[in-house]
Amino acid sequence: MNLLIRNTRLLLPDGDRFRVEEADLVIRGDRIGQILPPKEAKASDDTRILDGERRLVMPGLINAHTHAYMGLFRNYADDLEFFQWLEKVQLVEDRMTLEDSYWATLLSIAEMLRTGTTSFVDMYMHSTKTGAVSGPEGAVSAAVNDSGIRAFLSRGMVGEACDDGTRRRLSEWLPEMELHRDNPRIRFLLGPHATYSCMPDLLKRLRDIGLERQMMATIHIAESETEFRNMARDHDGITPVQYVEQSGLFDLPVIAAHCVQVTQEDLRILKEHNVSVAINPRSNMKLGNGFAPLGRMLEAGINVCLGTDGSGSNNTQNLFQEMNFAGLVYKGAEKKARCVDAEDVLRFATSQGAKALQMEGELGVIRPGALADLILLDLDVPQFIPANNPVSALVYSANGSEVRTVIVNGQIVMEEGRLLTIDEKEVFARCEEISSRLGMKS
Ligand SMILES: [Zn+2]
Repeated sequence: MNLLIRNTRLLLPDGDRFRVEEADLVIRGDRIGQILPPKEAKASDDTRILDGERRLVMPGLINAHTHAYMGLFRNYADDLEFFQWLEKVQLVEDRMTLEDSYWATLLSIAEMLRTGTTSFVDMYMHSTKTGAVSGPEGAVSAAVNDSGIRAFLSRGMVGEACDDGTRRRLSEWLPEMELHRDNPRIRFLLGPHATYSCMPDLLKRLRDIGLERQMMATIHIAESETEFRNMARDHDGITPVQYVEQSGLFDLPVIAAHCVQVTQEDLRILKEHNVSVAINPRSNMKLGNGFAPLGRMLEAGINVCLGTDGSGSNNTQNLFQEMNFAGLVYKGAEKKARCVDAEDVLRFATSQGAKALQMEGELGVIRPGALADLILLDLDVPQFIPANNPVSALVYSANGSEVRTVIVNGQIVMEEGRLLTIDEKEVFARCEEISSRLGMKS
């Protein structure tokens, strides 16, 4: 099936900035075909035509750090310090079944698609001991497969290289990865959970697996002051970033989530190893963890991308809200209005997310040959009028509700506000049931 978005406006790259151009956009199969002057494209019989009048077509957003199965934890463990929060969440996590994770993941995906996210990087931690679903297909990969979204999935790993848990997690995860080997919308990353939960030998083991299988990794690094202090106390004064560097994990391409507590030397190390940093401003603020030093990261030349983190620590999977916060809070935190601008923030959520995933030019950009992951926004809403600066409008005025149609891998998954691949009524009912069963309602 081919698509033609007729007579529309495209958000195109212009060096490392953006420009808007009136055009027709042709999609052939899973890729962007041609960009033609408006009303010039001819539709063949197998082409579906979408009216692009008063729409802005832009690359689908890339959520570079989340935990989609945590959809259930929305508005559950609020206003707690980080480690208290973690403890409260883990008590419920241990009782979730694989089926619970499936429905919770679909809930997060529904919210992501509705608010313009077409790709996400995920780390899932749920236990499978109480799993109601058997076989190699994991709950999260099943939800991704069913929903039509694109995802980069990692099974969270904790502990030591050779303990029973690691053996079990590897034995579950490797067949899951094999099962989706040919799925064009699912890729797997290695997922060492965090510096405080992974022993050095586990990081080394995962590095070896990554080198052998040519895989990337994603890990939480330096999210809180406690993590930073405990690391120095227990490991001869080193920082969380240095701990990961010493393990060799940075020999793989890595997306490091958070990096709130980092020294100037840490930034140099991250840059030297081409580590991309997924900042999560709303989660960091909500858990009282502070702010990543965004200005210094950009000065150091680090590839910054943007994540929501799970709904347990953010309460939403809306990347437009996250862009808005990223565009504002660091200016306040660093008392510098020029610390970051709207163009920077839009790149974090598009092309720089793609770069972090080694998909530069394939995702997060509109150009012939790129994968057709696109969103169509309604321009006739008060928050976009007057149309003075489209990039400022997307970062400072949009709230995500402007997203009307979503295309992933050349397939329409949401059309004019209606999700075609997810039965939302059923997802909502299931999630309410699960939350009641697990005693999560206050
Ligand atoms: Zn996280």
